[in-house]
Amino acid sequence: MGLLEGKKAFIFGVANDKSIAWAIAQAFHREGAELAFSYAGESVAKRLIPLAESLGSKLVIPCDVRSDEEIAQAFRTVGDVWGGLDILVHSVAFANKDELKGSFLNTTRDGFNLALDISAYSLIALSREAAPLMIGRDGGILTLTYYGGQKVFPSYNIMGVAKAALEMSVRYLAEAMGGDRIRVNAISAGPIRTLAAAGVGGFGQIAGHVADRAPLRRNVCQDEVAGAAVYLSSHLASGVTGEVHFVDSGYNIIGL
Ligand code: NAD
Repeated sequence: MGLLEGKKAFIFGVANDKSIAWAIAQAFHREGAELAFSYAGESVAKRLIPLAESLGSKLVIPCDVRSDEEIAQAFRTVGDVWGGLDILVHSVAFANKDELKGSFLNTTRDGFNLALDISAYSLIALSREAAPLMIGRDGGILTLTYYGGQKVFPSYNIMGVAKAALEMSVRYLAEAMGGDRIRVNAISAGPIRTLAAAGVGGFGQIAGHVADRAPLRRNVCQDEVAGAAVYLSSHLASGVTGEVHFVDSGYNIIGL
């Protein structure tokens, strides 16, 4: 029997077959979970629908996480079809490309608000709508973060500030939702070539540095993140909440 047999998982953040969320979806499917997906924009929908169908999912729901109405509607749809929810995956982030290069001093007010809204506040908004569907089911909420929320990386800039807010939100949400037997955790993944990563100036330099210096002397791949996502979303992690779990070849333990 799979680790997630009978579980219902709602996944935000599959843009294509390179997305970390897609690897998570495939791993959840292998472990027996039933899946629903959300997307923002028709170009994403075109790529997502065939991927979702390949895992037997017909629940593919539009939701731009900037909109409270779209979020409420998305969870209403999931609630109507499933009557409850066990797992929420938040694998969503965005910042203007201009703000992911050059000096952090050039961060604009609008750029700050946009990055924090999509990449951090959205976890709170999704969790609030998910909560009534998840109460008492010993389920889990999972988000994706990066070490640039704890230490400074060239060009990561405003996204680092957004990830810091996201990681602290994980802890506050874990406290707020623990009484309803809902766990909230983050995976801090090492650099992986995806659509979002392509927007970060100097990504190749960061990935090269990790491959040279991390204890495992290589970068991680989407499937390795997905393995940790299965663990954190299953009963194996029933005592784990408010955690930021690194899947980064051990890079974060290195001083010099
Ligand atoms: P990706 O581009 O495949 O995924 C990002 C997703 O965010 C896309 O599906 C995109 O449609 C979605 N998104 C953006 N704006 C949105 C909005 N307004 N409403 C709804 N969805 C929106 O890239 P990825 O690398 O798989 O990123 C997933 C998560 O993993 C992000 O939080 C990212 O910061 C994090 N992460 C990535 C890396 C990496 O190196 N790739 C490392 C650590 C953490």
